[in-house]
Amino acid sequence: MKSVIVVGAGIWGSSLALRLAETGWRVTLVEQHRPGHVRQSSAGETRLLRCSHGDDAWYTRLAWQARDGWRRLEERAGEELYHEAGMVWFARTTDGWEHRSAQVLKNLDIPCELLDPSDGGRFFPDLRADDLRFLLWEPHAGVLRARRATQVTAALAVASGVRLVRARVVPVAGDAAPYQAAVEIDGEVRHADRVVWACGAWLPALFDVPVSVTKQDTLHFAVPSAWSVPETPAWVDHGASAYGHGDVDGVGMKATSDAEGEPYEPEHGSREVDAAGVERARAYLLRRFPSLARAPVLFSQVCQYALTPDAEWIVNEVSPGVWLFGGDSGHGFKHGPALAGYVAGVLDGDHAPEPRFGLHERTPSRGLRTSGQVL
Ligand SMILES: Cc1cc2nc3c(=O)[nH]c(=O)nc-3n(C[C@H](O)[C@H](O)[C@H](O)COP(=O)(O)OP(=O)(O)OC[C@H]3O[C@@H](n4cnc5c(N)ncnc54)[C@H](O)[C@@H]3O)c2cc1C
Repeated sequence: MKSVIVVGAGIWGSSLALRLAETGWRVTLVEQHRPGHVRQSSAGETRLLRCSHGDDAWYTRLAWQARDGWRRLEERAGEELYHEAGMVWFARTTDGWEHRSAQVLKNLDIPCELLDPSDGGRFFPDLRADDLRFLLWEPHAGVLRARRATQVTAALAVASGVRLVRARVVPVAGDAAPYQAAVEIDGEVRHADRVVWACGAWLPALFDVPVSVTKQDTLHFAVPSAWSVPETPAWVDHGASAYGHGDVDGVGMKATSDAEGEPYEPEHGSREVDAAGVERARAYLLRRFPSLARAPVLFSQVCQYALTPDAEWIVNEVSPGVWLFGGDSGHGFKHGPALAGYVAGVLDGDHAPEPRFGLHERTPSRGLRTSGQVL
C-alpha cells in the first residue's frame, strides 16, 4: 500500500487526505492545531463558490466540478454546507472581466444570464446601480459554510481511515536532493512514499516559494431579515474589489474587501480588524446598498491570503516524492473537493501538474481573484 503524509488540515490538505484514503493510500494527516482552527484560511465562517474566472476555462471547469463534490460531501455528512443562493456580478464595463467570464460560462454550458442593472431589484431590497452596465447572474454559485465544511471533511477523512496527528512538523533535508520524503516531529523522522505540504500561509516559512502573506479583515453587518440567504444572493463588484453575500446562520450580511492588506504572520499576527477596513466596507455599502450604510458590524474575522504574484496555485514536486501544495491566492476554498481529485491524480502519476502551477518566475496578475484593482 502506498503511503502519504499530508501536512496541514485546512480544506486543501483535508480534502486531499480524504480523497487519497478513499483511493487506497495509507494516509497520515498532520496538523499543528485542529482542523478548522481559527488561524487557518479555511476557517472563515463562509466562502463563495463561483464559476466565473474571467477568460480562464480551467478554473471555471474545476469550480463547476467542485459544486458536485460539495453536494456529495453534504450527502455523506447529512448537513447543509452549501447555500446555492446564486451570485450577481456588478459589471461596470460592457467588455470587461464579467463579459469574458460569461463567454466562458456559455462555452462550458454553465448556466448564467446577462441582466439589465434595473433587474437588481430581483435580488436586493435596495441596490444603487447607476454606474453599472449590466449584471451577470450565476444561479448555481453560492455560499459555503467554510469552517464547518473543513471540520466535516477532516472528520470524514478520519472515518475513512486517515490517521490525524497533532504536531508541528518541519521538512527533512536530503543528500542527493534538497528534501527527503519525510517529516520531522519532535526530532523523530518519519518517511512516506509521498509528503504533501499543504500549509497555507505557513508555507513560505518552510520553503522558498513565491508566496506573500497579507492580513485580510472580513466584516459582517447586522441587517434586516430580507438581506438573508437565499433571498439575497452572493455578489461581487470586481472593479471595486468588494464582495459579500446575504446573512447566513445569523452572523450578518458579509460586505468586505478583496484588496490586499498588510504583510502578515499567520501564527502570531493580531486578529483584530482595522478601523480603516470597516470604513472602507461602510463606504461601499453607502454607494451600492445605501439603506445599509449605518448597519452595525455584527461579526468580524481576520484571515490571511497566501498570494502568488499571478494568483495561480503551486502544485510542485521539489524533491522526489516531496510536493508543495499551496499559494491558494485567496480563491482556493470553493475548489476543495475537485482540486483534491486533480492532485490525487498527480500523485498517482495519472497526469502531470499544469505548468502554470510550477515554481517559475510569475508575471503579476489579479485576473483570477474577485479583485479587479487595488483601492
Ligand atoms: C478573507 C478571505 C476570504 C476568502 N474568500 C474566498 C472565497 O470566497 N472563495 C474561495 O474559494 N476562497 C476564498 N478564500 C481562500 C480560501 O480560504 C483558501 O484558498 C483556502 O482556505 C486555503 O486552504 P489551505 O488548506 O491551503 O490553507 P489553510 O486553511 O490555512 O490550512 C493550512 C493548515 O496548515 C497547517 N500547518 C501549517 N504549517 C504546519 C506545520 N509545519 N505542521 C503542521 N501543520 C501546519 C496550519 O495550521 C493550517 O491549519 C478566502 C480567504 C480569505 C483569507
